[in-house]
Amino acid sequence: MESRRTAVIKLDTPEGADSLLEETVEQFKYCANTASDWCWHGDDGYHVTSKANAERALYDQLRDETDLTANLVQKGIRRAVESVKSGVERLKRGENTSQPYFSADSAVYDKRSATFHRDHVSHSTVDGRVACDYILPDGSETPPTKYVSNGDFEFRMAHLQYRDGDWYLHASMRKVEAGEESSESESEHRTVLGVDLGLNNLAVASTGRFWSADEFNHWRREYKKRRGSLQQCGSRYAHENIENVGEKEYGRFEIHLHTVANEIIEEAVESDCSHIVFEDLTHIRENIPEATWQHVWAFRRLYEYVEYKAEEHRIEAVQVDPRNTSKRCSTCGFTHNDNRHQESFECQKCGYENHADYNGAKNIGLQYLRRRQNADDGGAPVDVRLNRGTLNVSGEYVPPASTGA
Ligand SMILES: [Zn+2]
Repeated sequence: MESRRTAVIKLDTPEGADSLLEETVEQFKYCANTASDWCWHGDDGYHVTSKANAERALYDQLRDETDLTANLVQKGIRRAVESVKSGVERLKRGENTSQPYFSADSAVYDKRSATFHRDHVSHSTVDGRVACDYILPDGSETPPTKYVSNGDFEFRMAHLQYRDGDWYLHASMRKVEAGEESSESESEHRTVLGVDLGLNNLAVASTGRFWSADEFNHWRREYKKRRGSLQQCGSRYAHENIENVGEKEYGRFEIHLHTVANEIIEEAVESDCSHIVFEDLTHIRENIPEATWQHVWAFRRLYEYVEYKAEEHRIEAVQVDPRNTSKRCSTCGFTHNDNRHQESFECQKCGYENHADYNGAKNIGLQYLRRRQNADDGGAPVDVRLNRGTLNVSGEYVPPASTGA
């Protein structure tokens, strides 16, 4: 048995947000009306009532024509298909009807295009995300306060509506029964920790934490030195020792890697991350041509440890295509060879300056976020965790949530 409620929540829009919301709703209506027109006139005189067909025909065009996210374009098309479907059913029953037209200032949001919090919502718009506080009546038993502040109810989706000069969220909420798994897990908001691997720094997190490779390099040199001197002796005993030195060094590397892995997990847990993103290690040699076999081994081991240890914290370790993550500006997206000079990154376009590995770590997080956005299911919203605040899909910096005030 499922209990559903619609909560109508008045929004407190920050300065400058109204025009963005207006334009978003305008473009959403454009998508819905374009789709309605196409579906109603249809293929060879048949009305189109298949979402998949409509999306196939219109998605690319509408992404080009609007500034909406993939998810909102899909929602606009689907909204039209639903209406055309009901229209077609009315026609079948011999009732009078005409092509659906969307005139109300309203757009449909789900948990991918909006993040619903208990006191505010963040919507994607034609230009990044906009966060609006809820204006809730006092008194915990008064709707919508009753549902919005009650952890037993989860947000499913919402219509953003403009009426008489104000913005409202018509949120449909569902009661989560005791013992039931919240359905939020699937499309839940994700916050990722990006991790860049390298030679001077073994790992750098998008939160700005660095793990130097000094110790690693020291051991590597020691290993080489000892192996060298043993080889010079040339005895059988020496050969056996080479093996032993190898094993011993491996052991020391491994302990060190365990420590680094634990600290990466710790960083992710403290920053409330659901995912830790690494570059794809399959072609690590192509990405880091100077990497020795020990580096490659260490990177893979480190990933394995993180992946294994992350599980118990319900954090997922993933790998993404690392192409351009070292040359791309994490602030404006401008990609150029000249942006990077060894350890320093300076964007030739916007002037953003930072440690090259830190810029890389942010890009690896952003890469995962882009991949999710293009996912077939529309992708859950993803933010990249920084040392303060987060970066969202439009590269927009979101400061840490300010409570109170
Ligand atoms: Zn830039």
